[in-house]
Parts: sequence; structure tokens; C-alpha cells
Amino acid sequence: MKRPQSLLLAFFVFIFISFSLYEPFIKLFNNQTETAPEVAPIKSINNTIENGETLFSIFTKYGLRTEELFEMKSAAASIHPLRNIKPGTFYTFILDEQNSISSFSYGINEDTILKIERVDGSFQASKYSLPYETRVLTIGGSIRENLVSAFGTEREDYLLALQAADILAWDIDFNTDLRSGDTFRIIVEGLYLKEGFKKYGKILSIEFINNKQAYNAYLFDHDGKNGYYNAEGQSLRRAFLKAPLSFRRISSHFSRSRMHPILKVRRPHHGIDYAAATGTPVSTVADGTVTFAGYRGGYGKLIIISHRNGYQTYYGHLSRFAGGMRKGKRVQQGDLIGYVGATGQATGPHLHYEMRQSGAPINPLRIKNVASDPIPAGQMTEFKTLANSINKIYDVAVFYDTRNEERKNHYLQPALLAALSGYNGQKDTSPKNN
Ligand SMILES: [Zn+2]
Repeated sequence: MKRPQSLLLAFFVFIFISFSLYEPFIKLFNNQTETAPEVAPIKSINNTIENGETLFSIFTKYGLRTEELFEMKSAAASIHPLRNIKPGTFYTFILDEQNSISSFSYGINEDTILKIERVDGSFQASKYSLPYETRVLTIGGSIRENLVSAFGTEREDYLLALQAADILAWDIDFNTDLRSGDTFRIIVEGLYLKEGFKKYGKILSIEFINNKQAYNAYLFDHDGKNGYYNAEGQSLRRAFLKAPLSFRRISSHFSRSRMHPILKVRRPHHGIDYAAATGTPVSTVADGTVTFAGYRGGYGKLIIISHRNGYQTYYGHLSRFAGGMRKGKRVQQGDLIGYVGATGQATGPHLHYEMRQSGAPINPLRIKNVASDPIPAGQMTEFKTLANSINKIYDVAVFYDTRNEERKNHYLQPALLAALSGYNGQKDTSPKNN
């Protein structure tokens, strides 16, 4: 029994000596230039800015030297002023042995980092982009309550739902048109960092089945423009939006807990009544000019907007107007014009919306809703090739349900993408060296 124990001891002694020898060795190799001061980072602070916090209070919290804060601020002034730091933003301090700041990193936005480093005794600031790697994800789901809940619970899911709603805003009113059992499939960019999925990029294609009718959109870049087109290459963007209550505006107006005031649509007369909470934002369905903004009898607070080809839209019972709404004001499709109310002859808060042509009431769903320019003839072949490869993805790929936790970790393999006539290859014009 004696021998194995002493062997074990010898082994530990050997390990110990190796380590104590090894460490100076490393130092020897790292500090080849004797002039370089030894700044050994010994501590890092990683945290997120809380509500009401300032950099000053953060410095106080961690016992950092405020004179370094002033040095950091002046170093960053021309790159990204550190006056207003946003709650929820991550930051990192690397400190040296004397608790002095070696570096400070701060997320300016989702894609950009501000880094302030001590170089030769003074701070230098620089900005750099996060090195996202783009992959292609396939995600599907079905509607049970509303669009947002169908996409999942995280912020990224919510933003993806809004992106989908924006693409189809000319075809589907996501506040009122959705039916339980509607389904969707989405081919979307996923942006990854080393740690994994970070966020969604652009939706490359969407297939939405609403009330048994299919809507398809394909993203196509041409002439420096990004646009969504149907399978025939016609633009999804049209002169009139499907509804004056923008899903995106409503979603961002109300808190997440009561994000979707149940909207009911009624058509008791020549117009559409949208029952909605007082204060719900109202937007113009098309580009035009305000021809009336004031109080008019049963309409209460009313805005009338004139559009091309003799069309007019009416927005009545408003509680108030958006800033600057007056006769002669030019508005663009989707602009905020006012808020739902119950002014005039209204039994409860609702938006009275109607459309007229040359003064005569018309059904907004029956108008000739002119589409933006289609894909130019010269680029149609390219578009069809793209649409074909996208369709192959719909045919062969697994679409991960929005309830599947793993959906953000399953992306299409590059080999598969290449096999489908190279969706990425088509866009990749960067020079390759072999
Ligand atoms: Zn009405």
C-alpha cells in the first residue's frame, strides 16, 4: 500500500512543479517586449443598465473612479456621446489590479458595440459591428388568439410577427381578419453570434393562409430596392391599406398585457365601424391631402383625406387628432392621423371609416386597389428562379412550429440551400479568393 501512495504524491508534486514552472514560461513568452507595462485584467463587470441608472451611479455602485468616467466620456464624445444610456443595454468593464478601467463596452444598439479602451494611458473609443452570421430558418404556426401570441412569447417573436403583418398589410387586416385555424409558414434570416441565435433578420418569404385563402410573398432586391412580390412578380404594396387601424401601431401603443383590444367590425351603413378602445391610433390608408379636420355633426371629430383618382376616406368619432392635422396637410400611407373616440353620434368608442369616390360612398373592399410597380420585365427571369428555389424550400424543408423551443436552433444547411439552386449564391457577389 505504501508504494502507490508515494507514487501518487510524486505525481502531484510533479504536477505542481510543472505548473509553477509553466506560468513564468508563459509570461516570458508573452512579454517579449520589456517596455510593455503589465496590465493584467483581473476583474470584469457584466451587467445591464437598469431603469433610472446613469453611468455616474454605476461608477458609484462598483466603486470606480469618477475621474475615469469623465475621461471616458470625452474619449467617446465624437464616436457616441455617453449622455443618454438606455435601460436594458448590456455593458462590460474590464478592470486592472488597481481597479482602474482597462476597457468598457456598451451596446449602442442591437448591432453595434461601443468600446473604450485604455491605450498608452489614455482612453480611445471605437465602434464595431457585431459579427453576425446569417442563416436561414423555416418556421410555421397557426392562429389561436391573435397574430402575436401565434409567434411565441419572446421579444424577437413579437418583432417577427410585426414584420409579417407589415408585409401583408395591404391584403390582411391582422386586427379583424384572422380566423382561428389560419396557418403560416415563414422562411426568415436568423442572425447568430458565437453564443447562438440572436435575432431574426429579413423575412425572405411568407405563406399565410387566411380564411382558406393563401397569400404568398417573396422578398426580391432590384435596383437597390427591397420589395415583396407575389408568385407572379406583382408588388404586394398597393394604393390602399386593408384597414385604417395598423396592427403595428396598435401593438406598440398598448402595453403587452393588454396589447390587443378586441376589435369588432360592423357595417351598419355605408361605412365600416371598428369598435376599439379610446386612444387606439388611427392611420391613413393611402397617400393624400387632408381636406377636412374638425367637428362635423354626427361624425364628431372627423378627418377627411383626398387621394388620387377622386377617392376620399373619412375617419369619424375621433377623440383627438394627431399633431399637425389640418386642411392642406399632406399625409403618407400609414401615417398616424388621430385616435379612436366616441365624439358625435356614437354609443361607444369606435372608428367610423368610410370611402367615397367623387362624393359617392363605396365599399373599400371593391375598389381598384392599384399595385406598385411589378418586377421589371428584364428581371423577371431572375425573380422566377428565386421564387422556384423558395418554393422548393417550402416543399422539402421542415417548418418548426412556433411552440417548438428548438425552432431557432434548426437552420437550413448551406448544402441544402446550395442544392436548391443557390438562394444565397445568387445574392453573394463578394469576390472569392481560392
Ligand atoms: Zn359608422
